[in-house]
Amino acid sequence: MTTASSMESPLATALSQLRRAIDQLKLSENDWNTLSTPRRVLEVAVPLRRDDGRVEMYKGYRVQYSTTRGPSKGGVRFHQDIDLDETVALAMLMTWKCALANLPYGGAKGGVAVNPKTLSLTENERLTRRYTSEILPIIGPERDIPAPDVGTDERNMAWMMDTYSVNAGFSVPGVVTGKPIVLGGSLGRTSATGDGVAISVREALKLRGINPDGATVAIQGFGKVGYWAAVALEEMGLKVVAVSDVNGGVTGFKSVSEVHAFVEKNGTVVGMPGTDRITNTELLHLPVDVLVPAALADSITEVSATGIKAKVVVEGANAPTTPGGDAIMNDKGILVVPDILANSGGVIVSYFEWVQDKQNYFWSAEEVKENLNSILMRAINDVAEN
Ligand code: GLU
Repeated sequence: MTTASSMESPLATALSQLRRAIDQLKLSENDWNTLSTPRRVLEVAVPLRRDDGRVEMYKGYRVQYSTTRGPSKGGVRFHQDIDLDETVALAMLMTWKCALANLPYGGAKGGVAVNPKTLSLTENERLTRRYTSEILPIIGPERDIPAPDVGTDERNMAWMMDTYSVNAGFSVPGVVTGKPIVLGGSLGRTSATGDGVAISVREALKLRGINPDGATVAIQGFGKVGYWAAVALEEMGLKVVAVSDVNGGVTGFKSVSEVHAFVEKNGTVVGMPGTDRITNTELLHLPVDVLVPAALADSITEVSATGIKAKVVVEGANAPTTPGGDAIMNDKGILVVPDILANSGGVIVSYFEWVQDKQNYFWSAEEVKENLNSILMRAINDVAEN
Protein backbone atom coordinates (compact mmCIF):
# COMPACT_ATOMS: atom_id res chain seq x y z
CA MET A 1 0.00 0.00 0.00
CA THR A 2 1.26 3.45 -0.87
CA THR A 3 -1.44 5.52 0.85
CA ALA A 4 0.94 6.69 3.58
CA SER A 5 3.21 8.54 1.17
CA SER A 6 1.74 11.91 0.24
CA MET A 7 3.58 11.95 -3.10
CA GLU A 8 1.79 8.80 -4.19
CA SER A 9 -1.65 9.60 -2.74
CA PRO A 10 -4.41 9.70 -5.38
CA LEU A 11 -4.94 13.41 -4.68
CA ALA A 12 -1.24 14.24 -5.11
CA THR A 13 -1.24 12.18 -8.32
CA ALA A 14 -4.33 13.91 -9.72
CA LEU A 15 -3.00 17.37 -8.85
CA SER A 16 0.35 16.64 -10.47
CA GLN A 17 -1.43 15.42 -13.62
CA LEU A 18 -3.53 18.60 -13.63
CA ARG A 19 -0.39 20.74 -13.23
CA ARG A 20 1.19 19.01 -16.24
CA ALA A 21 -1.95 19.47 -18.33
CA ILE A 22 -2.18 23.17 -17.37
CA ASP A 23 1.47 23.71 -18.33
CA GLN A 24 1.22 21.76 -21.57
CA LEU A 25 -1.96 23.55 -22.67
CA LYS A 26 -0.47 26.89 -21.55
CA LEU A 27 -3.51 27.65 -19.38
CA SER A 28 -3.37 30.44 -16.79
CA GLU A 29 -2.93 30.40 -13.02
CA ASN A 30 -6.62 31.40 -12.85
CA ASP A 31 -7.45 28.14 -14.61
CA TRP A 32 -5.22 26.23 -12.19
CA ASN A 33 -6.96 27.90 -9.23
CA THR A 34 -10.45 26.95 -10.42
CA LEU A 35 -9.60 23.49 -11.72
CA SER A 36 -7.62 22.41 -8.65
CA THR A 37 -10.41 23.22 -6.17
CA PRO A 38 -13.49 21.07 -5.42
CA ARG A 39 -16.74 23.08 -5.40
CA ARG A 40 -18.63 21.22 -2.70
CA VAL A 41 -17.35 18.75 -0.12
CA LEU A 42 -19.65 16.97 2.30
CA GLU A 43 -18.55 14.66 5.12
CA VAL A 44 -21.26 12.85 7.03
CA ALA A 45 -21.46 10.40 9.93
CA VAL A 46 -23.48 7.35 8.98
CA PRO A 47 -24.89 5.38 11.91
CA LEU A 48 -25.51 1.69 11.32
CA ARG A 49 -27.47 -0.60 13.60
CA ARG A 50 -25.85 -4.01 13.21
CA ASP A 51 -28.02 -7.11 13.14
CA ASP A 52 -26.98 -7.86 16.75
CA GLY A 53 -28.21 -4.45 17.98
CA ARG A 54 -24.85 -2.64 18.24
CA VAL A 55 -24.71 0.84 16.70
CA GLU A 56 -21.57 1.78 14.79
CA MET A 57 -20.63 5.05 13.11
CA TYR A 58 -19.07 5.18 9.64
CA LYS A 59 -17.64 8.13 7.74
CA GLY A 60 -19.38 8.98 4.49
CA TYR A 61 -18.45 11.48 1.80
CA ARG A 62 -19.85 13.16 -1.29
CA VAL A 63 -17.65 15.51 -3.28
CA GLN A 64 -19.06 17.58 -6.13
CA TYR A 65 -15.84 18.59 -7.79
CA SER A 66 -17.39 20.56 -10.63
CA THR A 67 -20.89 21.53 -11.73
CA THR A 68 -19.83 23.83 -14.55
CA ARG A 69 -20.88 21.63 -17.48
CA GLY A 70 -24.04 20.29 -15.86
CA PRO A 71 -25.05 18.25 -12.82
CA SER A 72 -22.16 16.47 -11.16
CA LYS A 73 -21.82 12.74 -11.81
CA GLY A 74 -19.89 9.89 -10.29
CA GLY A 75 -19.91 6.68 -8.33
CA VAL A 76 -20.32 5.70 -4.69
CA ARG A 77 -17.51 3.57 -3.29
CA PHE A 78 -17.79 1.29 -0.27
CA HIS A 79 -14.23 0.49 0.79
CA GLN A 80 -12.49 0.47 4.15
CA ASP A 81 -9.56 2.63 2.97
CA ILE A 82 -11.39 5.56 1.41
CA ASP A 83 -10.98 9.01 2.88
CA LEU A 84 -11.80 12.56 1.90
CA ASP A 85 -8.61 13.17 -0.08
CA GLU A 86 -9.12 10.08 -2.23
CA THR A 87 -12.77 10.99 -2.81
CA VAL A 88 -11.74 14.50 -3.93
CA ALA A 89 -9.16 12.97 -6.30
CA LEU A 90 -11.67 10.54 -7.80
CA ALA A 91 -14.24 13.37 -8.18
CA MET A 92 -11.59 15.38 -10.05
CA LEU A 93 -11.01 12.41 -12.39
CA MET A 94 -14.79 12.14 -12.99
CA THR A 95 -14.80 15.83 -14.01
CA TRP A 96 -12.13 15.21 -16.65
CA LYS A 97 -13.72 11.93 -17.74
CA CYS A 98 -17.15 13.49 -18.37
CA ALA A 99 -15.59 16.45 -20.18
CA LEU A 100 -13.44 14.20 -22.38
CA ALA A 101 -16.49 12.16 -23.43
CA ASN A 102 -18.32 15.48 -23.93
CA LEU A 103 -21.13 14.51 -21.55
CA PRO A 104 -23.23 17.36 -20.10
CA TYR A 105 -21.92 16.70 -16.59
CA GLY A 106 -19.48 17.91 -14.00
CA GLY A 107 -17.73 15.37 -11.78
CA ALA A 108 -18.46 13.89 -8.36
CA LYS A 109 -17.59 10.92 -6.16
CA GLY A 110 -18.80 9.59 -2.87
CA GLY A 111 -18.50 6.71 -0.55
CA VAL A 112 -18.50 5.18 2.89
CA ALA A 113 -15.35 3.99 4.67
CA VAL A 114 -16.58 0.46 5.26
CA ASN A 115 -15.63 -3.00 4.10
CA PRO A 116 -18.88 -4.19 2.48
CA LYS A 117 -17.78 -7.80 2.89
CA THR A 118 -18.28 -7.40 6.66
CA LEU A 119 -21.95 -6.39 6.21
CA SER A 120 -24.96 -8.67 6.02
CA LEU A 121 -27.44 -7.86 3.26
CA THR A 122 -29.79 -6.11 5.68
CA GLU A 123 -26.89 -4.11 7.20
CA ASN A 124 -25.76 -3.09 3.73
CA GLU A 125 -29.30 -1.92 2.92
CA ARG A 126 -29.57 0.12 6.14
CA LEU A 127 -26.14 1.69 5.61
CA THR A 128 -26.91 2.56 1.98
CA ARG A 129 -30.27 4.08 2.84
CA ARG A 130 -28.85 6.12 5.75
CA TYR A 131 -25.92 7.34 3.64
CA THR A 132 -28.42 8.40 0.97
CA SER A 133 -30.50 10.29 3.56
CA GLU A 134 -27.38 12.09 4.80
CA ILE A 135 -26.37 13.29 1.30
CA LEU A 136 -29.97 13.75 0.10
CA PRO A 137 -29.99 17.57 0.27
CA ILE A 138 -27.29 17.81 -2.38
CA ILE A 139 -28.19 15.03 -4.86
CA GLY A 140 -30.93 14.87 -7.50
CA PRO A 141 -31.38 14.29 -11.25
CA GLU A 142 -30.53 17.94 -11.99
CA ARG A 143 -27.90 18.32 -9.25
CA ASP A 144 -25.71 15.29 -8.73
CA ILE A 145 -26.29 11.72 -9.93
CA PRO A 146 -24.54 8.87 -8.07
CA ALA A 147 -23.73 5.48 -9.66
CA PRO A 148 -22.01 2.23 -8.67
CA ASP A 149 -18.27 2.09 -8.04
CA VAL A 150 -15.94 -0.26 -6.13
CA GLY A 151 -17.97 -2.18 -3.51
CA THR A 152 -21.44 -1.11 -4.70
CA ASP A 153 -23.76 -2.48 -7.38
CA GLU A 154 -27.24 -2.19 -8.88
CA ARG A 155 -28.85 -3.28 -5.62
CA ASN A 156 -27.28 -0.35 -3.76
CA MET A 157 -28.55 1.93 -6.54
CA ALA A 158 -32.08 0.55 -6.13
CA TRP A 159 -31.96 1.33 -2.38
CA MET A 160 -30.61 4.82 -3.10
CA MET A 161 -33.34 5.50 -5.65
CA ASP A 162 -36.04 4.26 -3.28
CA THR A 163 -34.74 6.32 -0.34
CA TYR A 164 -34.67 9.44 -2.50
CA SER A 165 -38.11 8.67 -3.98
CA VAL A 166 -39.90 8.12 -0.63
CA ASN A 167 -38.63 11.53 0.44
CA ALA A 168 -39.77 13.16 -2.81
CA GLY A 169 -43.17 11.44 -2.63
CA PHE A 170 -42.91 10.03 -6.14
CA SER A 171 -40.57 7.80 -8.08
CA VAL A 172 -37.38 9.54 -9.25
CA PRO A 173 -35.39 7.04 -11.35
CA GLY A 174 -33.02 9.74 -12.71
CA VAL A 175 -31.41 10.35 -9.29
CA VAL A 176 -28.98 7.44 -9.72
CA THR A 177 -27.69 5.36 -12.63
CA GLY A 178 -26.58 1.76 -12.74
CA LYS A 179 -30.01 0.67 -11.49
CA PRO A 180 -31.69 -2.68 -12.15
CA ILE A 181 -33.45 -2.68 -15.55
CA VAL A 182 -36.92 -3.02 -13.96
CA LEU A 183 -36.40 0.24 -12.05
CA GLY A 184 -35.36 2.31 -15.07
CA GLY A 185 -31.84 0.98 -15.59
CA SER A 186 -30.30 0.79 -19.05
CA LEU A 187 -29.51 -2.32 -21.02
CA GLY A 188 -25.76 -2.63 -21.39
CA ARG A 189 -24.86 -0.64 -18.25
CA THR A 190 -23.49 -3.64 -16.31
CA SER A 191 -20.89 -4.46 -18.94
CA ALA A 192 -20.37 -0.87 -20.16
CA THR A 193 -17.07 -0.06 -18.43
CA GLY A 194 -15.55 -3.37 -19.56
CA ASP A 195 -16.94 -2.89 -23.08
CA GLY A 196 -15.29 0.55 -23.21
CA VAL A 197 -11.99 -0.91 -22.00
CA ALA A 198 -12.17 -3.49 -24.81
CA ILE A 199 -12.87 -0.80 -27.42
CA SER A 200 -9.84 1.13 -26.07
CA VAL A 201 -7.68 -2.01 -26.36
CA ARG A 202 -8.87 -2.56 -29.94
CA GLU A 203 -7.97 1.00 -30.95
CA ALA A 204 -4.63 0.99 -29.11
CA LEU A 205 -3.63 -2.24 -30.88
CA LYS A 206 -4.52 -0.60 -34.21
CA LEU A 207 -2.24 2.33 -33.39
CA ARG A 208 0.60 -0.08 -32.57
CA GLY A 209 -0.07 -2.24 -35.66
CA ILE A 210 -0.75 -5.38 -33.57
CA ASN A 211 -3.27 -7.94 -34.88
CA PRO A 212 -5.93 -8.43 -32.16
CA ASP A 213 -6.50 -12.02 -33.23
CA GLY A 214 -4.64 -14.09 -30.66
CA ALA A 215 -3.02 -11.05 -28.99
CA THR A 216 -2.43 -11.81 -25.31
CA VAL A 217 -3.90 -9.91 -22.35
CA ALA A 218 -3.30 -9.92 -18.59
CA ILE A 219 -6.01 -8.36 -16.43
CA GLN A 220 -5.39 -7.22 -12.87
CA GLY A 221 -8.76 -7.29 -11.06
CA PHE A 222 -11.68 -9.55 -11.88
CA GLY A 223 -14.55 -7.40 -10.63
CA LYS A 224 -17.16 -5.35 -12.50
CA VAL A 225 -14.56 -3.85 -14.85
CA GLY A 226 -12.00 -6.64 -15.27
CA TYR A 227 -14.51 -9.43 -15.78
CA TRP A 228 -16.58 -7.67 -18.45
CA ALA A 229 -13.43 -6.40 -20.18
CA ALA A 230 -12.19 -10.01 -20.30
CA VAL A 231 -15.49 -11.19 -21.82
CA ALA A 232 -15.48 -8.46 -24.48
CA LEU A 233 -11.78 -8.96 -25.31
CA GLU A 234 -12.25 -12.69 -25.73
CA GLU A 235 -15.17 -11.96 -28.09
CA MET A 236 -12.84 -9.72 -30.11
CA GLY A 237 -10.46 -12.65 -30.59
CA LEU A 238 -7.81 -11.78 -27.99
CA LYS A 239 -6.49 -14.39 -25.58
CA VAL A 240 -6.87 -13.58 -21.88
CA VAL A 241 -3.92 -15.40 -20.31
CA ALA A 242 -3.97 -14.15 -16.70
CA VAL A 243 -6.42 -12.62 -14.24
CA SER A 244 -6.17 -11.71 -10.57
CA ASP A 245 -8.05 -10.37 -7.55
CA VAL A 246 -7.00 -9.19 -4.08
CA ASN A 247 -5.89 -12.71 -3.16
CA GLY A 248 -3.56 -13.22 -6.14
CA GLY A 249 -3.64 -14.25 -9.78
CA VAL A 250 -3.89 -17.31 -12.01
CA THR A 251 -2.69 -18.36 -15.45
CA GLY A 252 -3.26 -21.51 -17.48
CA PHE A 253 -7.09 -21.47 -17.66
CA LYS A 254 -8.93 -22.21 -20.89
CA SER A 255 -11.56 -19.49 -20.92
CA VAL A 256 -12.82 -16.48 -19.00
CA SER A 257 -16.21 -18.13 -18.43
CA GLU A 258 -14.47 -21.05 -16.75
CA VAL A 259 -12.76 -18.66 -14.29
CA HIS A 260 -16.00 -16.76 -13.75
CA ALA A 261 -17.86 -19.96 -12.84
CA PHE A 262 -15.12 -20.78 -10.29
CA VAL A 263 -15.28 -17.26 -8.80
CA GLU A 264 -19.08 -17.40 -8.47
CA LYS A 265 -18.69 -20.50 -6.29
CA ASN A 266 -15.48 -19.71 -4.40
CA GLY A 267 -15.31 -15.90 -4.26
CA THR A 268 -11.76 -15.75 -5.66
CA VAL A 269 -9.77 -16.77 -8.74
CA VAL A 270 -7.09 -18.34 -6.55
CA GLY A 271 -7.12 -22.11 -6.20
CA MET A 272 -8.87 -22.88 -9.46
CA PRO A 273 -7.96 -26.47 -10.44
CA GLY A 274 -5.70 -26.72 -13.48
CA THR A 275 -4.30 -23.18 -13.11
CA ASP A 276 -0.96 -21.86 -11.88
CA ARG A 277 -0.90 -19.31 -9.12
CA ILE A 278 0.98 -16.03 -9.62
CA THR A 279 1.24 -12.87 -7.53
CA ASN A 280 -0.29 -9.56 -8.59
CA THR A 281 3.20 -8.21 -9.31
CA GLU A 282 4.04 -11.24 -11.46
CA LEU A 283 0.83 -10.59 -13.41
CA LEU A 284 1.93 -7.00 -14.10
CA HIS A 285 5.25 -8.30 -15.45
CA LEU A 286 3.99 -11.03 -17.79
CA PRO A 287 5.24 -10.94 -21.40
CA VAL A 288 1.84 -10.06 -22.91
CA ASP A 289 0.70 -7.67 -25.63
CA VAL A 290 -1.83 -5.89 -23.41
CA LEU A 291 -1.96 -5.20 -19.68
CA VAL A 292 -5.23 -4.01 -18.14
CA PRO A 293 -4.92 -2.77 -14.54
CA ALA A 294 -8.55 -2.98 -13.38
CA ALA A 295 -8.20 -3.07 -9.60
CA LEU A 296 -7.54 -0.13 -7.27
CA ALA A 297 -5.33 2.99 -7.40
CA ASP A 298 -1.52 3.04 -7.38
CA SER A 299 -0.74 -0.44 -8.68
CA ILE A 300 1.70 0.76 -11.35
CA THR A 301 4.39 2.66 -9.47
CA GLU A 302 7.99 3.55 -10.32
CA VAL A 303 8.91 0.24 -8.70
CA SER A 304 6.39 -2.06 -10.40
CA ALA A 305 6.50 -0.25 -13.80
CA THR A 306 10.13 -1.22 -14.44
CA GLY A 307 9.21 -4.87 -15.00
CA ILE A 308 6.26 -4.28 -17.35
CA LYS A 309 6.72 -6.02 -20.71
CA ALA A 310 3.31 -5.28 -22.28
CA LYS A 311 3.31 -3.09 -25.39
CA VAL A 312 -0.02 -1.51 -24.51
CA VAL A 313 -1.44 -0.64 -21.06
CA VAL A 314 -5.15 0.20 -20.87
CA GLU A 315 -6.24 1.63 -17.51
CA GLY A 316 -9.51 0.01 -16.46
CA ALA A 317 -9.24 1.16 -12.83
CA ASN A 318 -9.34 4.76 -11.70
CA ALA A 319 -5.83 6.17 -11.08
CA PRO A 320 -3.95 2.85 -11.28
CA THR A 321 -0.68 4.60 -12.19
CA THR A 322 1.43 7.00 -10.13
CA PRO A 323 3.34 9.84 -11.90
CA GLY A 324 6.58 7.85 -11.36
CA GLY A 325 5.01 4.79 -12.99
CA ASP A 326 3.78 6.93 -15.89
CA ALA A 327 7.25 8.34 -16.52
CA ILE A 328 8.81 4.87 -16.64
CA MET A 329 6.18 3.50 -19.05
CA ASN A 330 6.70 6.57 -21.22
CA ASP A 331 10.48 5.95 -21.31
CA LYS A 332 9.88 2.33 -22.26
CA GLY A 333 7.69 3.43 -25.20
CA ILE A 334 4.58 1.69 -23.83
CA LEU A 335 1.31 3.05 -25.25
CA VAL A 336 -0.88 3.92 -22.24
CA VAL A 337 -4.61 4.59 -22.63
CA PRO A 338 -5.43 6.66 -19.53
CA ASP A 339 -8.28 5.83 -17.13
CA ILE A 340 -10.39 8.89 -17.96
CA LEU A 341 -10.63 7.60 -21.53
CA ALA A 342 -10.29 3.83 -21.16
CA ASN A 343 -12.88 3.37 -18.40
CA SER A 344 -15.32 6.08 -19.51
CA GLY A 345 -17.72 3.48 -20.98
CA GLY A 346 -19.43 3.22 -17.59
CA VAL A 347 -20.31 6.86 -17.24
CA ILE A 348 -21.19 7.12 -20.95
CA VAL A 349 -23.87 4.44 -20.56
CA SER A 350 -24.88 6.05 -17.23
CA TYR A 351 -25.56 9.16 -19.30
CA PHE A 352 -27.73 7.07 -21.66
CA GLU A 353 -29.61 5.71 -18.64
CA TRP A 354 -30.27 9.23 -17.33
CA VAL A 355 -31.46 10.35 -20.78
CA GLN A 356 -33.78 7.33 -21.05
CA ASP A 357 -35.17 8.00 -17.55
CA LYS A 358 -35.79 11.65 -18.44
CA GLN A 359 -37.66 10.66 -21.61
CA ASN A 360 -39.33 7.52 -20.19
CA TYR A 361 -38.29 5.87 -23.42
CA PHE A 362 -35.92 2.91 -23.35
CA TRP A 363 -33.39 1.83 -25.97
CA SER A 364 -32.48 -1.59 -27.31
CA ALA A 365 -29.17 -3.22 -26.36
CA GLU A 366 -27.95 -2.58 -29.94
CA GLU A 367 -28.70 1.14 -29.71
CA VAL A 368 -26.78 1.36 -26.43
CA LYS A 369 -23.77 -0.47 -27.92
CA GLU A 370 -23.74 1.62 -31.09
CA ASN A 371 -24.00 4.92 -29.24
CA LEU A 372 -21.33 3.87 -26.74
CA ASN A 373 -18.99 3.01 -29.58
CA SER A 374 -19.57 6.30 -31.38
CA ILE A 375 -19.14 8.54 -28.29
CA LEU A 376 -16.05 6.66 -27.16
CA MET A 377 -14.54 6.63 -30.67
CA ARG A 378 -14.98 10.40 -30.90
CA ALA A 379 -13.10 10.80 -27.61
CA ILE A 380 -10.38 8.31 -28.62
CA ASN A 381 -9.84 10.08 -31.95
CA ASP A 382 -9.71 13.47 -30.21
CA VAL A 383 -7.00 12.18 -27.89
CA ALA A 384 -5.05 10.37 -30.62
CA GLU A 385 -5.00 13.49 -32.82
CA ASN A 386 -3.84 15.89 -30.09
N1 GLU B 1 -17.92 4.65 -11.02
C1 GLU B 1 -17.78 4.72 -12.44
C2 GLU B 1 -16.55 5.55 -12.81
O1 GLU B 1 -15.65 5.70 -12.02
C3 GLU B 1 -19.05 5.19 -13.14
C4 GLU B 1 -19.55 6.54 -12.73
C5 GLU B 1 -20.93 6.85 -13.28
O2 GLU B 1 -21.48 6.07 -14.02
O3 GLU B 1 -21.42 7.93 -12.91
O4 GLU B 1 -16.41 5.98 -13.91
